[in-house]
Amino acid sequence: MAFCILHIALDTPLNSGFDYRWPCAPGEEPAVGQLALVNFGNREVVGLIIAVRHATEVPLDKLKDALAVRGQLAPLTAAWLALAAFAADYYQRPLGEVALPGLPKNLRTLTTVALDRALKKLAKGAPVHDGAPCGMPALNSAQQDAADAIGGAVGFTPLLLYGVTGSGKTEVYLQACAQVLAREADGQILILVPEINLTPQLEGNIRARFPGVMLATLHSSLSEGERMLHWLAAHQGQARIVLGTRLAILASLPHLKLIVVDEEHDPSYKQQEGLRYSARDLAVWRARQLGIPIVLGSATPSLETWHHAHSGRYRKLELRERAVKDAVLPRVTLLDMERDKPVDGITKQLMAALRQRLERGEQSLLFLNRRGYAPVISCEACGWISECTRCTSFMVLHKPEHRLRCHHCSLELRIPRHCPTCGNVDLQPLGRGTQRVEEGLQQLFPEARILRIDADSTRRKGSAQAAFDSVHRGEVDILIGTQMVAKGHDFKKLTLVGILNPDTALFSQDYRASERLFAQLMQVAGRAGRAARSEGGSASEVLVQTRYAAHPLYAAVVNHDYDRFATALLEERRQAALPPYMYQALLRAEARELALAIAFLEQARDCGAHEGITINDPIPMTMTRVFNVERAQLLVESASRPALQGFLRQWLASLRALKSRVKWSLEVDPLDI
Ligand SMILES: [Zn+2]
Ligand SMILES: [Zn+2]
Repeated sequence: MAFCILHIALDTPLNSGFDYRWPCAPGEEPAVGQLALVNFGNREVVGLIIAVRHATEVPLDKLKDALAVRGQLAPLTAAWLALAAFAADYYQRPLGEVALPGLPKNLRTLTTVALDRALKKLAKGAPVHDGAPCGMPALNSAQQDAADAIGGAVGFTPLLLYGVTGSGKTEVYLQACAQVLAREADGQILILVPEINLTPQLEGNIRARFPGVMLATLHSSLSEGERMLHWLAAHQGQARIVLGTRLAILASLPHLKLIVVDEEHDPSYKQQEGLRYSARDLAVWRARQLGIPIVLGSATPSLETWHHAHSGRYRKLELRERAVKDAVLPRVTLLDMERDKPVDGITKQLMAALRQRLERGEQSLLFLNRRGYAPVISCEACGWISECTRCTSFMVLHKPEHRLRCHHCSLELRIPRHCPTCGNVDLQPLGRGTQRVEEGLQQLFPEARILRIDADSTRRKGSAQAAFDSVHRGEVDILIGTQMVAKGHDFKKLTLVGILNPDTALFSQDYRASERLFAQLMQVAGRAGRAARSEGGSASEVLVQTRYAAHPLYAAVVNHDYDRFATALLEERRQAALPPYMYQALLRAEARELALAIAFLEQARDCGAHEGITINDPIPMTMTRVFNVERAQLLVESASRPALQGFLRQWLASLRALKSRVKWSLEVDPLDI
C-alpha cells in the first residue's frame, strides 16, 4: 500500500512537528495547511499538516498512522502558515502552540459535526444584511485626503491616521474600505478594535454602509458555534469584512487587501498570557508579507508608531479638526484639589458644572479608573489594613455585595465586623472607587439618573451593551465609569467630563505610565462635545481634579498637545536607552519561595553572556506574590533586534537544558516591566 509521511504540528510545548503515516495513492496526498486527526500520547488530537514527505528518519515501524484528514476544509494558505511561523519564531514558541489555539475550538474536536453543519449553512448562502444602502456622508477635505490615501495605496504601505478625538476616523476607514471593496473583486478587509464593547457600534455602521457585503466578527464573547461560522466565512473568502479584537489577527483571510488597526496605541492589543503577542505588531508584519496597506489609527499613537511616522517608515495622515461642523475640542481645565477640597470626592467647581448639565438636560461622565467601593479598609486604632493573604495587594471593599475582594486572585471574604487584630468595631474605608462615587452622587443629586459602568456592574452577558444603549437613548444624566467608558463611544448628548483621580500614575515606576495616562485622559476627554453645540447648550468641557496642577503632562492635556508631549517623551526614551530605541525581552520565574525563582534567574543570567546583549540582574516583580506564588523577573536588552532574536533562540535552548522545576516564561517586547 502506498503512503506518504505527514509532518504535523501539534499544540504541545515539546516540538514543532511530528511524523505520521497516511495511506494514499501517489498524487492524492493531503495538502500542507490541512488539518488531521492523530493519536498523540494516547489522546486523539487535531494537528496541522506542515509538510508532506515521502521519507523520514523515524523507522517506519515506529510510525503511527494518522486517523483522518479533514478533507472538507480548504487548506490554510501558505501566507497564513508563514504568519504563524513568524509569530512562533518571533515570540519564541513552538509553531503548534501558535497555530492551533488560533483556530476555532470546534475545528479541533474529534468529530466533524460542527464543521459540517457550519459548511452546510454557509453553502446555502452567506448571511448578509439587506436593506437600502445608506449614502456616504460628505467628508471634510482632510478626511477625504486620508480616505483617498488609504484607498489608493498600492503595495505594503503603513499609514498612521493621526486624528484628534471626534475627527471622524471611523468615517475615513469606511470610505477607504468602500474604495478597496469596489476595486478588488474578492478583496477582504480586516478591522481590529481594542475592545469587544466597541464592536456593536462599528458593526452597525458597517452593516448599514455595506448592505449585501458579508461581515464576520471575531471576538471572545461569541459562542463556539458562532465563532466557527464566522471563522469559516473568513477562511472561505465569503466574508469580505472581518471585524474583531486582537485574536482576529490570526484569522485565515485568503484575499486580504487592507488592514485597519483602530486605537493602535491601546494596551489591549497585547495578549498578556500564553503566547504574549502584540496584535498590532503582527498586523504590520502581515501587511508587509502580503504587500498591502495597513492603517494604524489613533489620537495618541504609541511612541513606537510615532517614532516610525517621524523617521519616515510610516506615512502620517492628519485630522486636526473635529468632523462634525461646529463641534470643537472640549476646553480642559485643571481643578486644584489643594484649594478646592473635594467633598465625597468631588470639588465644588465640578459639582457646579454637574448641576448646570442637569438643569440643561445634558449628560455628564465621571471617570475614575478604580472599581469597587474603596481600595482598602483599615482600623484607625491599631493600623490594621485589609491585605490579601495570598497576594502583595489589598482586599478591595465591595459594599453592595458586602464583600472584600482581591482583584488579583479573586479571594472573597465577608466584611469583618471588627478589627481582626484589636477588636475595634469601627473599620473605615480608605480611598474611593466607582461604587463610592456613585453613592456620593446619589446623595448630592437625588433627582439625577445615575449609572455606573465598570467590570462589576457588567458581569452578565449583554449587560454592558444594555448599559451603553441606555446612555445613547438619553436615559442617563450622570455616567460614572472606569476605562470601560473611555474608549471610542460616541455619546451625543455628553458635554461634561470629570476626571477624578488621575495623579497616581504620575509617579509610577513603569516608564510607560505617563504615555498611557496621557492617552487615557485624551481619550476620556474626547467623549465630550462630539456633536454640534445646540442653541443655548453648554460648551463642552473637561475638568481634571488634581493635586499636581503644575505637572507638564497636565499642561499638554490642557493644550491638547500630543505632538509636543510625544516628542519630548521620545527624547527622554532615547536618552535613557528605552524602547523604541532599545529592544527588550523579559524572563519571568514563579515559585513557592522567592529565593527559588531568583536562583533560577541567576542561573539563566550566568548561562547567557553574549556580545551586544545586556542581561540585567534578577529582581522580584513589583507585585511579588499573587495567589501564594512568588514572582521574579530578568530583563534582557539589546540595541539590535536581530541580535536579540538570535540570542534568545540560543538562550532558550540553554534554559530548557537546565530542566529547572521553577515555572518560567519568556516575553518578547514586554509592555509591563
Ligand atoms: Zn485594629
Ligand atoms: Zn489576592
